[in-house]
Amino acid sequence: MDTKGYFGNWGGAFIPEILHETFEQLKISYAEARKDPAFWQEYLQLMGSYSCRPTPLTYAENLTKHFGGAKIFIKREDLNHTGAHKANNVMGQGLLVKKMGKKRVIAETGAGQHGVATATMAAKFGFECTVYMGEVDVQRQRPNVFWMEKMGATVIPVKDGSRTLKDAINEAFRDWVTNVDSTHYVFGTACGPAPFPEMVSWFQSIIGQEAHKQILEIHGRMPAKIYACVGGGSNAMGIFQGFLGKDNVELIGVEAGGKGLHSGQHASRLCGNDATPGIAQGYKTMFLQNDEGQMLETHSVSAGLDYVGVSPILVDLWEQKKVRFESATDAEVMEALDLTMKMEGIIPALESAHAFVQAFKEAPKLGKDEAIIINQSGRGDKDIFTIAHAFDDPSWKQFIIDRAKEYDK
Ligand SMILES: *Cc1c(COP(=O)(O)O)cnc(C)c1O
Repeated sequence: MDTKGYFGNWGGAFIPEILHETFEQLKISYAEARKDPAFWQEYLQLMGSYSCRPTPLTYAENLTKHFGGAKIFIKREDLNHTGAHKANNVMGQGLLVKKMGKKRVIAETGAGQHGVATATMAAKFGFECTVYMGEVDVQRQRPNVFWMEKMGATVIPVKDGSRTLKDAINEAFRDWVTNVDSTHYVFGTACGPAPFPEMVSWFQSIIGQEAHKQILEIHGRMPAKIYACVGGGSNAMGIFQGFLGKDNVELIGVEAGGKGLHSGQHASRLCGNDATPGIAQGYKTMFLQNDEGQMLETHSVSAGLDYVGVSPILVDLWEQKKVRFESATDAEVMEALDLTMKMEGIIPALESAHAFVQAFKEAPKLGKDEAIIINQSGRGDKDIFTIAHAFDDPSWKQFIIDRAKEYDK
């Protein structure tokens, strides 16, 4: 990151005047934390005692035999507290908030996963917590809203625009402008104005640091390829950082191909031709937008990859050809999920399954002495409503109907 928060041509900080001082304070606290080895030690200690770190690197022996090529390893971010890598980011930011002496946190959330993670962090640190969520998402994600409220957070449904994630982000910024002195905005991914992209990536780099050490211990040398799904880009940045600049390790980001790259119903920014450069939500990146800069409707079977922008750091790495981008369709994702559950007894989140799709396409082409790593960003249990629906499971449907009847009595 340069002094203005750019990565090549991308990123920056486009923020209202009133937030300048807050951002300065955040930048200073973050810079101090990065310089202070004791901060990272405290972070490691917290993640070890609260979020099951280090997460294992699992050898997927059955999938490896099935594909007959490279050894397939899975980095198990699904075993974090609240079931995904999001814990890494929110707990790190929680430590910073404590350092800055603030007492209130706010967050935006789409599918609710980042909201739940932030609510757990706020409960643990004793912060007041408000989560902004599009009204449509509040209706779609009732279980997550339930848990956030039970952990003491206030969930505010946002009724503007398309009533989804981008509207929740706008509303969270409005709150921040009004409450700058007391409040920290816990941004959910490696996007937004500087220093968020770099700061979130730093906390997530714990994934890559562990994976680097683990693959050397288990496999004895560097892997050939690393696969990660890309929504905003934080889990991908997390694992990639452990291997960036290491010759011969290829990094592959997999975006949501939805119903296909030519369907207009996907969320692929860097793979395909539908995104263009733009400035919105405080930063410059490749956005899925129309000629007037209006954000397009996106689609993915996985709520967590369904975002119009992408990390400016990843756009820069893509331009430098240090990361290759691919996409996986909804149909391919369901197939990879099915195979992984049957062969390994592991349930990847729908988001993570995108990375599995591309790894399964490429593993057979590699030699048996090579290794690849798939970053399993989260667990699929949370997706039971979507997965059961997509598999069209008749007894699940009956269960939902019976449950509803029970409440009607
Ligand atoms: C939120 C989420 C993602 C997408 O976010 P990134 O910032 O791109 O990592 C991916 N996987 C899971 C399980 C998630 O919860």
